[in-house]
Amino acid sequence: MDVEREIRALANWPESGHLVLSVYLDASRTDEHARQKLRIFIKDRVKQLEKEMAGRRSRWAAVEEDVRFIERYVEGLLAGLHDSEYNGIALFCCEHEGLRSVIRSRIAFPNAFHVAPRPRIRPLAHLYDEFETALFVDAGQSHAAIYLVAAGEIDRVVTIENEITPRPKPGRLPPSGRGDDQAGAHYRQVSDHLVREADEAGVRNVLLSGTSQAVASLKRLLPKRLAEHVIAELSLGKNPSREQVRESAVKALREAERAREEAVVRQVLEMKTQAARVAVGVDQVLRALAHGRVHRLLISDRFVRAGFRCTSCGKLGEKPPESCELCGEPVVSTDLGEAMVVSAIQRGADIDEIVGHAEFEELGGVAALLRY
Ligand SMILES: [Zn+2]
Repeated sequence: MDVEREIRALANWPESGHLVLSVYLDASRTDEHARQKLRIFIKDRVKQLEKEMAGRRSRWAAVEEDVRFIERYVEGLLAGLHDSEYNGIALFCCEHEGLRSVIRSRIAFPNAFHVAPRPRIRPLAHLYDEFETALFVDAGQSHAAIYLVAAGEIDRVVTIENEITPRPKPGRLPPSGRGDDQAGAHYRQVSDHLVREADEAGVRNVLLSGTSQAVASLKRLLPKRLAEHVIAELSLGKNPSREQVRESAVKALREAERAREEAVVRQVLEMKTQAARVAVGVDQVLRALAHGRVHRLLISDRFVRAGFRCTSCGKLGEKPPESCELCGEPVVSTDLGEAMVVSAIQRGADIDEIVGHAEFEELGGVAALLRY
């Protein structure tokens, strides 16, 4: 599944007034205790929702089908009937708008149950930021496998096989195009494939695995724009299993992401007084979002703040006014972190969820690099 496209579609959800259920599940543990915990989590949230909607039959009726779908899905999951190989599940439902989306991930989500006029996408956006799409290349002298790893999952594999003519007996002249030339042609072919795949999927993470000689030969042939995106050089041995590939990709991506976060936070800290280039703190970031100037949104994974959103023009803010200062329409309370992430994605900005960074917390836990 193309998680990025899914996130963008959910961020651009056309609000119709109907409620959307967004449920995130941690299905990483399958022992009885963990299963019971998940069962109780869903039961409690459903009960709570029923209580909140008591006396508003029509409101409950509108979400009942979605609630039943989620209950059935979770029961099946706990009984091992489906998706038991995944650790994280995200469900988005709105019967009225025909939305029934199940996103499966090997990375667990913290349990969450949201009912709102819009899908809740921040945990999904975080997963996507944490595990960007990567190309993993298992390179041998005459064989190669290129894995596309998206959101921590192997999406597809392309294999390349070339025959290498055996070495001639001593004393005979080698046929032309043998040996090193053939290996060279093979690596060129792998490199060409890799470039094509990377350009198609917009990948900026490449992992190379193989003998040091194979990795070096391949790396020499990569164009600079791809070579500088090599985040790890590994030696997993011949024909690594899919699980080995996935695990090492996830580990390398996590490390690369921490390094990238550190670099971008440094950049913000260095430029924090240059109002034309960075926005720091809630007020500045909201202003930059409203003007469509956010190129990259940085938000702490611990950022939780209540705010408001205009139901008509979408203006966001911290302290809710009587009505929207821009258009006079009513405002509703909103989770400001989620709203900022949605707004940034709608405007095509990149999101960086900054994990556990003390200096960044001191800046207010939110900042943005600006477009111009
Ligand atoms: Zn407004």
